[in-house]
Amino acid sequence: IMMIVSIGEVLIDFIALQEGKLKDVKSFEKHPGGAPANVAVGLSRLGVEGALVSKVGEDPFGDFLLERLHDEGVKTYVSRDAEKHTGVVFVQLIGAKPEFILYDGVAYFNLKPWDVETTPLENAEAVHFGTVLFAREPSRSTLFGILEELKGRVPLSYDVNIRPDLWRGREEEMLRNIERALQLADIVKLGDGELEYLRNNGISLDEFDFKLLAVTSGEKGSELTSGDAKVHIPAYRVEPVDTTGAGDAFTAALLAGLHYSNLLGEDSIDEEHLRKIGRFANLVAAISTTRRGAWSVPKMEEIVQMKEVRELYQRSRR
Ligand code: ATP
Repeated sequence: IMMIVSIGEVLIDFIALQEGKLKDVKSFEKHPGGAPANVAVGLSRLGVEGALVSKVGEDPFGDFLLERLHDEGVKTYVSRDAEKHTGVVFVQLIGAKPEFILYDGVAYFNLKPWDVETTPLENAEAVHFGTVLFAREPSRSTLFGILEELKGRVPLSYDVNIRPDLWRGREEEMLRNIERALQLADIVKLGDGELEYLRNNGISLDEFDFKLLAVTSGEKGSELTSGDAKVHIPAYRVEPVDTTGAGDAFTAALLAGLHYSNLLGEDSIDEEHLRKIGRFANLVAAISTTRRGAWSVPKMEEIVQMKEVRELYQRSRR
């Protein structure tokens, strides 16, 4: 079976149980997270073989994450770090703006070339990654090394996912790393705020040669571009309770939609397919906002009767 392999951080999200600033919060709840891990779990729930390449500590949090990934049916290529601990983040959602502390010196930043098995990557249907691992060494060189090796052989999917906290005082370096990643990527997803930030800092996405570009705008929906085709898909209407991971749910559904349409690896996608895949991704992302936590993608069985899902399947059967 063909797998979609995610590479990157898997970590514990400690989510504040009280309102207010992190400074004043008294208790936190432990949740599995990390954007690339969220995408792998989303894929698996949507019926696509999802795998994760990462690194966790030889500690109880590492055991917990591996157990949860296995429960979700994600294939793990996760090495254990004898020196560094599993990554942790403390998160508070204050209105639209999350406040968080992302800890440094953790296992996923210590990903080394010999931690990574190449066979699953070379045989993957697509490989997905984000920006976080580029913020530190040795994970930066390890990930760029892998991507450069795979470029042109396996479709590469990139969620820009900017975490400015990790790059304080090094914004210029962050932009150069993002640019380098954009040059390698075939499929790119980013939020409208990130698109604007890049544009304001002299990076125009028109200069790159993506096969598919997806820009998400929260409750305003998403825009998909491929070659000359461009579609705007309004958001699916829901009452959100927790939008964390909506972007990752969208990315998982985008990749799953491409998989079900047999379009991963195609150079361009026509408007009709962009619309179907976009509607499916917006639906899955919207449902994810009605559930708590970052692992909130619905299972395929739950949504298979919905028209956005059926139209995608009809297409894939032809
Ligand atoms: P994050 O990084 O917080 O996960 P993001 O900025 O990557 O989010 P958004 O643009 O907020 O992603 O959301 C991704 C997709 O999720 C949107 O394109 C939309 O389809 C869906 N979505 C998000 N918020 C809502 C909402 N309030 N109602 C309906 N759909 C939503």
